[in-house]
Amino acid sequence: MRKRLIVSAASALSLFLAVPASASDFRPGAAGSGDSYYPTYGNGGYDVSHYDIRLKYQPATDELEGTTTILATATQDLSRFNLDFALNVSEVLVNGRAAKFATSGEQELEVTPARPLAKGSQATVVVRYKGVPSTVKKYGFTAWLRTPDGAVAAGEPESAWWWFPSNDHPSDKATFDVSVLVPDGNQVISNGILTGSSSQAGWTRYSWRENKPQATYLATLAVGKFDVTTDTTPSGLPVYNAYSKDLGDNADAARASVERTGELVDWLSGYFGDYPFSSVGGYVPNVKTGYALETQTRVFYSPRQFAKGANTSVVVHELAHQWYGDSVSLSRWSDIWLNEGFARYSQLLWSEHENEGTAQELADYIYASHPAEDPFWSVKPGDPGPDDQFSGAVYDRGAVAIQALRNAVGDDAFFRILKGWPTERRYGNATIPEFQAYAEKVSGKKLGELFQTWLFTAAKPAVGPLPAGAAVSASLAPGAGQGEQQQLPVEPKSWKKIQESNSLHDARH
Ligand SMILES: [Zn+2]
Repeated sequence: MRKRLIVSAASALSLFLAVPASASDFRPGAAGSGDSYYPTYGNGGYDVSHYDIRLKYQPATDELEGTTTILATATQDLSRFNLDFALNVSEVLVNGRAAKFATSGEQELEVTPARPLAKGSQATVVVRYKGVPSTVKKYGFTAWLRTPDGAVAAGEPESAWWWFPSNDHPSDKATFDVSVLVPDGNQVISNGILTGSSSQAGWTRYSWRENKPQATYLATLAVGKFDVTTDTTPSGLPVYNAYSKDLGDNADAARASVERTGELVDWLSGYFGDYPFSSVGGYVPNVKTGYALETQTRVFYSPRQFAKGANTSVVVHELAHQWYGDSVSLSRWSDIWLNEGFARYSQLLWSEHENEGTAQELADYIYASHPAEDPFWSVKPGDPGPDDQFSGAVYDRGAVAIQALRNAVGDDAFFRILKGWPTERRYGNATIPEFQAYAEKVSGKKLGELFQTWLFTAAKPAVGPLPAGAAVSASLAPGAGQGEQQQLPVEPKSWKKIQESNSLHDARH
């Protein structure tokens, strides 16, 4: 008894000593999350668990006003912390007390709470704001897309700044409630499940909930006039799809693609394991952009994706991201291959399923169609640099790298890796070295050289992604065709549709 008393007195003393003597030991959180590609994106010193975003939006004028409530935990003793945001802020409260705030840099909002936040303590941060998002330019652009009847927030990596304050980096994921008031006759689309809508005095409020961790760039918002379809997949998942009413000639091709979401998500589950979220779907607003984006549970598609007819390949790509990118997210933007390589590879698997070219044929075709001097090979998919983060090589060479991995470890181990990784790392964050370690563990093979050759070398690999035991054919042999036209394999039938899904993430244009 006495001994226990002494112990607890000692631990009480050490606890006391651990508490800083004065507020001067509290320091500002970092203005960035430490990402080498985007040093100012995200922030240090806290971790967000939930965003409650409550907005009022007028499509006629693009006026947005809102209140976002952030639940966070301090990860250091904080005298001040930053949020990433672009609209005008009128008030900030931290734990119920008015906080000082100031803007700095392009999108930094510096918040100084009335009382500093001790490491491990909870903070409730309320930010009130308004603005006309389409007129607010950061780094020379706005990611807020206007449509004839409303607006859309969908961009990578920047999208959040124009509609909610956040810790804008995929390493800090959180659950979301998004509730938006719009004039009657308009609809609101966001992530997850529509939990309710009600109208009063000419305005309708739509409330959406994403109950699984979500990166800030994967949160999406659309306001406009949509035709909505709802369904459940054969496996029982709720499906919610939406199409702008003014898609013109692209309307039918959009539906012929996106309405297959349920079927395709169930097909992908066979490769990647159980679907990680509680709803699925896509929406096609009448935007002028050309890209699609894997916004969580509710994929954003530009109408142009369907300008040449239906494209199930792009739907497969974006749905594959729900596992590779959304459920298992990047820890740092340099590892973008973990997202795009696998999403592109899923298109190769879909081609194989549709008898339009096997994954091997497509990988051989990509390898052979870029000569060694093509700048394509100067991009390292495993670390492309911010300017080439979404270049074709990250996708195409990235997918060939996965075929090379498949050939190195054999189909049995490969498909266990493909399913096991998103299952084991579900709702988390990951890096390429962690993926390599996992693939080595599952396959029992050392893969350092393969990863170095295919992901981290700025040159064409000397040998293509050969199947195990395959003889090096004349046209694929190192040095083949020197001084003469090299024989190009026949273009697989699926190749054009796969190429049509490019410009996927060219979100700034
Ligand atoms: Zn993608």
